Amino acid sequence: MGKRVVIALGGNAILRPNQKATFENQMENVGISTDSISDVKKAGHQVIVTHGNGPQVGNILRQNEEAKEVVPQLPLHVLSAQSQGFIGYMMEQSLKNALLSKGISGSVVTVLTQTEVDASDKAFQNPTKPIGVFYTEEESKQLTIEKGWEMAEDAGRGYRRVVASPQPKKIHGVDSIKTLIENDTVVISTGGGGIPVVSDEKGILSGIEAVIDKDLSGLRLAEQVDADVFMILTDVNNVYLNYGKSDQMKLETVAVEEANRYVAEGHFAAGSMGPKMEAAIAFASNGKEAIICSLENAVDALAGLSGTRIVLGSGKK
Ligand code: ADP
Ligand code: MG
Repeated sequence: MGKRVVIALGGNAILRPNQKATFENQMENVGISTDSISDVKKAGHQVIVTHGNGPQVGNILRQNEEAKEVVPQLPLHVLSAQSQGFIGYMMEQSLKNALLSKGISGSVVTVLTQTEVDASDKAFQNPTKPIGVFYTEEESKQLTIEKGWEMAEDAGRGYRRVVASPQPKKIHGVDSIKTLIENDTVVISTGGGGIPVVSDEKGILSGIEAVIDKDLSGLRLAEQVDADVFMILTDVNNVYLNYGKSDQMKLETVAVEEANRYVAEGHFAAGSMGPKMEAAIAFASNGKEAIICSLENAVDALAGLSGTRIVLGSGKK
């Protein structure tokens, strides 16, 4: 029996660290991801794909800044929409080609998605989400002086601009997405966490300056489409305790209660593994299955043979 699976792709699925953000490089990486995703579809599952957009929206942001004397600068929510369209196009084409060349049934559709947030979310007072390229400590200080950007160190990899990252409340268009997946269509949705919008009391929407964490939006999406499995594919095949230290320990199957204890002990960095664990725990708390693993191992992880899974009840090591 096929499962309904929401797959959240990490940054590596599109661009690897130290690679130039050319179309060719990004398309090549996307090809590796869609090869894996097409195998999940082949195994008979309903598939919805969501993805990050950090480096891409960061570059579009930079283009806007560099060209502001020539073309008016556009707000961050518009840039988010641009990146969602660009990445969606690459994934849709690549996945269609993968299905065709492997003789797998089905079509692929990208849904440009708006994610509703609360205008009074306290995140707007405390920006935490890293976006764009990495800078040295020196460059970072200069950017704060020159542009007033808030900067923060990101998991030992350098400094990045940080913006408000409010909680996603509602993914728009979910009924249409369900109709598509029930009709043998792989849907690409909520890219970059979705375009951040707020609603007034009448439901009238407007864009807002923020970036929504793609793992938390992926969680909302998975909940709203009634997914059986929420998979977060990233550049590590497992979640670790004491990550990066000499005594680091790989996690395989972990119960929600145990996972919550590890969160409290501070094992998962904010802005990287933190939101993934938060999202996985929340999904598993509803009695569903949440998996964190590497891109290459998606099919094995779905079969219980790889990755870290969070489950309600007792985890077995
Ligand atoms: P993505 O682009 O897939 O969202 P992130 O860089 O945001 O990837 O998150 C994955 C990274 O999280 C890993 O490459 C690793 O450096 C970092 N990380 C932080 N804490 C942990 C941990 N406890 N176990 C595994 N990885 C961790
Ligand atoms: Mg991330």
